[in-house]
Amino acid sequence: MSISYDKEDLKDLYAGRLPWDKIKEIMSSPKDDDRFDKYIEILQERVSWPERILMPLGMHLYIVQKDGERIVKCDCGHEFGDWRRNWKLGAVIFVRDDAEKLEEVYPGLRCPDPQLSEIREYYCPGCAALLKVESLPKGCPVVFDALPDLDTFYRDWLGRPLPQEKDFKDMTYEVTRKWGLDSK
Ligand SMILES: [Zn+2]
Repeated sequence: MSISYDKEDLKDLYAGRLPWDKIKEIMSSPKDDDRFDKYIEILQERVSWPERILMPLGMHLYIVQKDGERIVKCDCGHEFGDWRRNWKLGAVIFVRDDAEKLEEVYPGLRCPDPQLSEIREYYCPGCAALLKVESLPKGCPVVFDALPDLDTFYRDWLGRPLPQEKDFKDMTYEVTRKWGLDSK
């Protein structure tokens, strides 16, 4: 049997305002069937734009339905385009790849070796929010954190297929291909 939590409790949970014993209770109990819908409802109330949120992608980003497309959108309203293309390629990227830049965040002995690794910070071009930080070996391609299979999730898990089913594939190469063609 699952317990149903009311929206106010869940709101406090996501905002980090609940005491630990309450969080533990919610975490340990079976999830109520409409938890995802309540979560989306709460997120939808927080944003100022009208597009329907299909899935959150982190602190500021959402996949939303817009004019038959599914795009990644920041809470500030900036749009990154089709969710099958890694949004990071449309972000403002700051790379910490030398000792001085790395020391700013890892002072002293904890500083990674700039010969081996770098830290990349991805910022929203619309609101300058820091969206993601990744620490990787030098030369490593940009990581595509999440490419959710929205059609399968909505069709098979929620039982509510989304309109206009899309091919489920990583289309990031289209962006880099265009860069290659443009630079010729
Ligand atoms: Zn933004």
